[in-house]
Amino acid sequence: MTPKVARFLAKVQPATPCLVLDVDRVEENFRRLKSALPLARIYYAVKANPAAPILERLTGLGSFFDAASLREVEMCLESGAQPARISYGNTIKKERDIAAAFAAGVRMFAFDSEAELQKLARSAPGASVYCRILVGNDGAEWPLSRKFGCEAEMARGLMVQAKALGLDAFGLSFHVGSQQVKTAAYEAAIAKVAMLFTDLSEAGVKLRMVNLGGGYPVRYKSEVPEIGAFGDAIMGAMTKHFGNALPEIVVEPGRFLVADAGVVQSEVVLVSRKGADDPVRWVYLDIGRFGGLAETEGEAIKYAIATAHDGTQEGPVTIAGPTCDSTDTLYEKSNYRLPLALRDGDRIELLATGAYVTTYASQKFNGFSPLDEHYI
Ligand SMILES: *Cc1c(COP(=O)(O)O)cnc(C)c1O
Repeated sequence: MTPKVARFLAKVQPATPCLVLDVDRVEENFRRLKSALPLARIYYAVKANPAAPILERLTGLGSFFDAASLREVEMCLESGAQPARISYGNTIKKERDIAAAFAAGVRMFAFDSEAELQKLARSAPGASVYCRILVGNDGAEWPLSRKFGCEAEMARGLMVQAKALGLDAFGLSFHVGSQQVKTAAYEAAIAKVAMLFTDLSEAGVKLRMVNLGGGYPVRYKSEVPEIGAFGDAIMGAMTKHFGNALPEIVVEPGRFLVADAGVVQSEVVLVSRKGADDPVRWVYLDIGRFGGLAETEGEAIKYAIATAHDGTQEGPVTIAGPTCDSTDTLYEKSNYRLPLALRDGDRIELLATGAYVTTYASQKFNGFSPLDEHYI
């Protein structure tokens, strides 16, 4: 937690549950990524946290943006971003949304299928398009499965077709999965992309851009490699495969820019046991899976938790949210331990919760309002 967030929590004592996010930390993270990958253009993946103060700060820093919907495109424009700095990166778009983004000046679009390419040719004529390919997601704590991307062989044919349709056959993209802790995942994906560049060049299609997607990890309960290690691995692989003919490099960080800038404060609603001798206490918070902690699904993302009793004796706990749905249990198998002194009414903090929380909150399931947000 940054000192600014700690001071805000102490002074304001905001109603819980709430997210408090230090926008200065977002700027620091942007600069850290820039120095790890000085040749890359940074397209912030807006879905990680689309709050206006974040988009405005990043606009001021000269960031580019990866938008997944027309509304996200509009939010970037409202924050002052130039349309030329926005990529419409979702491979699944309604054709009328493509047309609206194109009318607003957006010229960079992703696709991974022929039907989507046809939509782009009709509704974004001449735009720069890039094809997303399937790559391994091993090492990702929040993998993306096969929902996005196509086989390399299909991508090859589609890029040839893109050119024939009058589009600008701009490049290729991949995503190695979110909270990716292995640098090798990027190296393997870059090797695959480089082969396709060569194949396509032989077919008369000269690509100019590689989009490395997101995935750069942040520290939750366990340590992760420094961003510098990802920068080194990525540039090493790019140089190995492309030599002096380096294409334009695009990265789309979401989590890395905003997660550790934010803290969710929550009130303990109840501490109980299921039997008199049961060593495990159940700790029910006023935020849960439906309050925005969607990434606790499968206990995939393990948030670190701070309490006012830290440093005193701890015992095992199961941690759950306040709603009447039993899937609203956050951690049962991940060996969480919390102080024995923890009581109802205590405030606790879920650390590094600035990404993928606010927009996942449900609308008043069980009457619970979405969490409050404070950008400072
Ligand atoms: C979600 C997403 C990102 C951001 O991923 P992070 O793991 O948060 O960095 C980047 N690109 C695309 C296409 C995405 O869908």
